[in-house]
Amino acid sequence: MGYKICQVCGKFIRTSSDEEMCETCMDRDTMEYSAVKNYLVSHQGASMAEIYTNTRIPLKTIKRFIQDRRIELR
Ligand SMILES: [Zn+2]
Repeated sequence: MGYKICQVCGKFIRTSSDEEMCETCMDRDTMEYSAVKNYLVSHQGASMAEIYTNTRIPLKTIKRFIQDRRIELR
């Protein structure tokens, strides 16, 4: 068991895994990720601003998905 700081909200978390996020942020992250992913499936080539306008997922979160290579924007 080790301690980490959640990369998203800055809360202290106790974890034995490689996760960099607390459970609350993880749940939200999963929801937000599927929303963005779904949007991209039906709107190929969408821009970050377009995704934000239509899904209301914060730009910060979308940028994180791109950085983590979980989504790819053209
Ligand atoms: Zn958190």
